[in-house]
Amino acid sequence: MLNIILMGPPGAGKGTQAKKIIDAFHIPHISTGDMFREAIAKGTPLGLQAKAIIESGGLVSDEITVGLVRERLSQPDCANGYLLDGFPRTIPQAEALKAMGPEIGRPVNLVLDVSVPDEELVRRISGRRVCPKCGASYHITDMKPAKEGTCDRCGAELIQRKDDNAESLKTRLENYYASTAPLIDFYQGEGLYHHFDGMVGHVALFDQIVATLKAAQ
Ligand code: AMP
Repeated sequence: MLNIILMGPPGAGKGTQAKKIIDAFHIPHISTGDMFREAIAKGTPLGLQAKAIIESGGLVSDEITVGLVRERLSQPDCANGYLLDGFPRTIPQAEALKAMGPEIGRPVNLVLDVSVPDEELVRRISGRRVCPKCGASYHITDMKPAKEGTCDRCGAELIQRKDDNAESLKTRLENYYASTAPLIDFYQGEGLYHHFDGMVGHVALFDQIVATLKAAQ
């Protein structure tokens, strides 16, 4: 069973790896960032609440985020594994996830952490383009789509995320080091932690991740 957390700072390549993992292992992709962006696009009460926080690079409250994930993980398609991307991002979220694992019978059994130095994160995020429809990520020089401005996966027009600007990124990185990086110790303590160097390139990184996932299956 693959009940996976994929973690790492913004720009580490989580989204790109997540898409490849779910295609290869046929498990649902649970991206809290994508769920929030969808809520914003639809103008739901959750979206209205989260919009300003997300655009400025802040973190949505633990209570709201945990509620969203609990409901999603309880759905039938998560019974045979799942990939959490962008959650948990704080110790209270990790504690809540641990508490809900046995409750819904789906405890996390693998944590994959991708690390990349800050200068490279800034370079990647400033050139990032994303698909608003399927969430796929591209880069203006490193990972171009086959047709400029168009998503290879679903054909939608690519955009730049509102929080992919220098100021929001600074806040996101600060939040990452203050609130999310402590999860490394947390999951090392749980014996679930696997580290990956995100500088090896997305193809080599995927090969290494696949080897770890196959060994765990
Ligand atoms: P991401 O797509 O993972 O980079 O997430 C985009 C934004 O959504 C983050 O910068 C936060 O504002 C918000 N967000 C996503 N996941 C979480 C989370 N687990 N806890 C709090 N805020 C989150």
